[in-house]
Amino acid sequence: MAEKFTLKIYRGTPDNQYWEEFELELKPFYNMTSALMDIQKDPINKKGERVTPIAWEQGCLEVVCGSCSMLVNGRPMQGCVVLIDAILKATGGKTITLAPFTTFPLIKDLVVDRSSMFENLKKIHAWVEVDDSLDKGFGPKIDPKVQEERYILSTCISCGCCTEACPQMNPRSKFVGPAVISQARLFNTHPVGKLTAKERLAPLMEEGGVSDCGNAQNCVQVCPKDIPLTESIALMGRKVAGQGLRDLLNTDDTNA
Ligand code: SF4
Ligand code: SF4
Repeated sequence: MAEKFTLKIYRGTPDNQYWEEFELELKPFYNMTSALMDIQKDPINKKGERVTPIAWEQGCLEVVCGSCSMLVNGRPMQGCVVLIDAILKATGGKTITLAPFTTFPLIKDLVVDRSSMFENLKKIHAWVEVDDSLDKGFGPKIDPKVQEERYILSTCISCGCCTEACPQMNPRSKFVGPAVISQARLFNTHPVGKLTAKERLAPLMEEGGVSDCGNAQNCVQVCPKDIPLTESIALMGRKVAGQGLRDLLNTDDTNA
């Protein structure tokens, strides 16, 4: 007889929340997204009641879109990579909890509104200006060492795991969060991005900027892409301090 396990899922809307359990048969290489899809096909809870299907997000199913991020046994991760077998073995139990992120406003069940992270990316100008650059030829070459440093930063999938793990973040917090600070570093090390580096540093100098980091270092431990977030925060902290000094002395520096 196939082994069974229980998924205990945090459900509801901002007005009404509750836990609901579902019993499933364990399959080889069964991941969390597949389990949620199986429940969706036949949403009957452990008490035998037919219930509304669970709401969750998914996209690429290969850790690229970040949309299936959720709390699995309290740890932020992507549902598409979580192998149920491995979790059950690691905990020695038969129940796994699934819950939505808490630092973003709840929409329904496992779905949250992560738009604050994207608004913060807009705030720090997380792009390089390329308008009208097509006829200007190739840009300057980027040193391979800098390319290497930038590559890992560019792998951020905006999943929000670091934001969820950060004790400084909550739905009312003004802190832009570790991923956004790291993206400011990414674009400030681009030859074209450097030209607008001050625009990225400005919001990091205000309330909600780099100085709001409490250095708990939780963020770096949960990033699925192993992005050196605390290194980025320390580096951008130094850049912000340097810019503050230049502003005070009224000197400018395009290498901010
Ligand atoms: S190091 Fe800073 S950004 Fe990272 S979790 Fe701690 S407080 Fe948050
Ligand atoms: S830095 Fe890592 S944890 Fe944070 S949003 Fe990007 S990929 Fe996710």
